[in-house]
Amino acid sequence: MNNFIGGVHPPESKFTSQILTEEIPLPKKAVVPLSQHTGSPSKPIVSVGDEVKTGQLIAEATGFISANLHSPVSGKVSGISSRLHPCGYNFDSIIIESDDKDETVEFIPHNPEKLFPNEIVEIIKNAGIVGLGGAAFPTHVKLSPPKEKKIDSVILNGCECEPYLTCDHRVMIEETEKVVGGLKLIMKVLDVKNGFIAIEDNKEDAIEKMEDGRWKMEDVQVKVVKLKTKYPQGAEKQLIKAVLKREVPSGKLPMDVGCVVQNVQTAKAIYEAVYEGKPLYERVITVAGSVKRPGNLKVRIGTSLSEIVDYCGGFEGDVKKVIAGGPMMGITQFTLDVPVVKGFSGLVILTEKESKFYEPSNCIRCGKCIDVCPMGLVPTVISRMVEKERYKELKNYNPLDCMECGCCAYECPAKIHLVQNIKLAKTLIQQKKI
Ligand code: SF4
Ligand code: SF4
Repeated sequence: MNNFIGGVHPPESKFTSQILTEEIPLPKKAVVPLSQHTGSPSKPIVSVGDEVKTGQLIAEATGFISANLHSPVSGKVSGISSRLHPCGYNFDSIIIESDDKDETVEFIPHNPEKLFPNEIVEIIKNAGIVGLGGAAFPTHVKLSPPKEKKIDSVILNGCECEPYLTCDHRVMIEETEKVVGGLKLIMKVLDVKNGFIAIEDNKEDAIEKMEDGRWKMEDVQVKVVKLKTKYPQGAEKQLIKAVLKREVPSGKLPMDVGCVVQNVQTAKAIYEAVYEGKPLYERVITVAGSVKRPGNLKVRIGTSLSEIVDYCGGFEGDVKKVIAGGPMMGITQFTLDVPVVKGFSGLVILTEKESKFYEPSNCIRCGKCIDVCPMGLVPTVISRMVEKERYKELKNYNPLDCMECGCCAYECPAKIHLVQNIKLAKTLIQQKKI
């Protein structure tokens, strides 16, 4: 079976995988950060006191790598001020008090048969679509590779390798037509004939649904690729290695090996933007762990985590940790007063027992961190150099290639804070401090 080097096998804990997606009530107030994508923040085009409708453009992209933002509710803009973001920093945000009517702007559907590729990209850009797998990279940029980079393959990422999260799984099962339709649009834009839908083998029902003859496309080849369940199977470079047997070199991008990777929810959003004229203002997330009613929820961007936890019946048991995203790469929250953003895939709530904190001890030189690193790095050495402040030698060990997947720390018997140390190395290099 297709595979990549390294990786780990944390308990899957995908307890919500068979729970149908529910749409939760509108938030009373939506907090929409101007920075919720890779690139420059969006610029507000509304003012305090303005009435807005659901789907109305409220902030424009500033520059090529940026994204539009649309109102997730109808109501009144009550403020534009700095608010806490789930990444842990404060960002300027547009705050909208909902009137609970959910009046939308007019969505104008397009006929994809009549659209040129550049027109489809323009629709995607106008709809504010970014990668919904977590990185939130503006999709129109990924779909506009430089002319010299010839793309021959598109991989739709349906791996969802993080433990607990099941929202992509549900979208593949419940919105198959939109996911496949979005893939077809991406392939049209890039003039690509080879499409792959990559799914881990712990999602047999999604694989079956995707292989259904109804979604067959006459003009292009689309293959469903069943991948081994292993973390981080859904990371771009590992996915490309597993599906196409191509290595993305250090410091290069998937487009350098002729490939574009998109998440399945991004494909769905592309379908909705083109076929329904609907911009991106909601997404499906998973709420898993110690809440009374865990599940997969369709939520508006800007909904606070506290409203979501309330909808799920509140915490259950001795809750110690709330993570935005999965337990491997997610960010622990210190308050529920933060909003869902476009790249937000879920909320994992853990009890005291499930979120033990270990004091690090000395490295026993077992080499496990090296064995599991999917990027072929030497985490123990990078970490030690950071601790000893031997910064000059660091660059020789390519810390910038680290994707912060957490495999090394997960496997380390000494519980050394490997990822934190490597993150520090990356920050120092990126800020040219070393
Ligand atoms: S060094 Fe980085 S890429 Fe390698 S296992 Fe650790 S976190 Fe993952
Ligand atoms: S896994 Fe931990 S103990 Fe083993 S070599 Fe790496 S840092 Fe040292």
